[in-house]
Amino acid sequence: MTEAKRAFITGVTGQDGSYMAQQLLAKGYEVHGLVRRSSTFNRSRIDHLHHDEHIPGKNLHLHYGDVTDAARMQQLMVEIRPHEVYNLAAQSHVRVSFDEPAYTAQASGVSALNLLEAIRSTDTSIRFYQAATSEMFGASPPPQNEQTPFYPRSPYGVAKVYSYWITRNYREAYDLFAVNGQLFNHESPRRGETFVTRKITLAVAKIVKGLASELWMGNLDSVRDWGYAPEYTDGMWRMLQADEPTDFVLATGTAYTIRDFLTFAFEHAGLDWQEYVKFDPKFLRPTEVDVLIGDAGKAKSVLGWEATVLPPQLAQVMVDADIARLEGAKEGQF
Ligand code: NAP
Ligand code: GDP
Repeated sequence: MTEAKRAFITGVTGQDGSYMAQQLLAKGYEVHGLVRRSSTFNRSRIDHLHHDEHIPGKNLHLHYGDVTDAARMQQLMVEIRPHEVYNLAAQSHVRVSFDEPAYTAQASGVSALNLLEAIRSTDTSIRFYQAATSEMFGASPPPQNEQTPFYPRSPYGVAKVYSYWITRNYREAYDLFAVNGQLFNHESPRRGETFVTRKITLAVAKIVKGLASELWMGNLDSVRDWGYAPEYTDGMWRMLQADEPTDFVLATGTAYTIRDFLTFAFEHAGLDWQEYVKFDPKFLRPTEVDVLIGDAGKAKSVLGWEATVLPPQLAQVMVDADIARLEGAKEGQF
């Protein structure tokens, strides 16, 4: 019998980490996830994996640690001896990165170095995925692809540019199979509640249920390219199965404003967003990324990857899930 593949996922309790763990378990992987010790429960996105009879949850192993702790990353790399590492942990919120720039540099930038060093000194055949982002393109005009110059507009974007280049440098210097996924925004019912799409769909659900009557927001003019997170984690896995290590953009190629997403979400519930949305300057950023529209042509031709869920449908899926949650649906359903 051949040995099961082992994967190590940092950020396993996050949106992408939870889908990645679910998909790898379903493929028969032994999955190891990094979790932070917290005084409150922070595993709601993965708890169902231990109980779902369709998923071999007994192959999910959790380890305490923090990606800013290089010694712990080294120790876990030796202990787990993974075949694949997915570095999905980050301080991932752009607005928060202006409040916590130094911590963001460590958690979203230098964390990649900590893992790459651990791989280099343990086993150079371990394949490494780094969660890079369209925020690195920032102010560069669309459409953005793998050739587009970086012009980050937040401490988060700047930190991710570091993680991108250190991943490329270790690939070139030490011949590691280390790749960057330059992913455009991707959302789901598991998206954090302070990101704009989820903030909107949760508000719609609360308004429908009579639990809220207004929604305070910032800049409604920016354009984003929103995809569906489980399709993007599948893209990450495909990157690590490729013949050669190289970087990829994943995106839908669609362009909608925040206003458009408000329309999709509120109209799905039979509501007019203009009756509920109010402006609060605290949600503005000191520097904004105005337009992100990705060109994922390389991923389509090399990996056979293509986004199928587009923003109008995504908004509906997320509103339905938030309403179902308020009606008592279990987390694992989403
Ligand atoms: P998320 O939901 O915010 O999850 C972030 C994860 O990182 C959580 O599991 C969090 O743990 C963990 N984490 C944060 N700081 C850590 C630290 N110092 N040590 C260990 N773990 C830490 O993010 P996501 O949406 O799944 O995104 C996954 C990755 O893709 C991130 O690197 C993000 O920057 C990047 N990305 C996301 C998008 C997107 O649209 N979603 C687009 C491009 C790139 P806790 O649960 O304990 O907080
Ligand atoms: P980002 O693209 O990684 O910054 O993802 P977000 O979902 O946090 O923000 C997407 C866009 O929505 C940005 O241009 C924000 O300025 C804009 N936006 C407008 N109002 C809000 C809000 O209340 N919260 C958030 N998070 N973003 C908002």
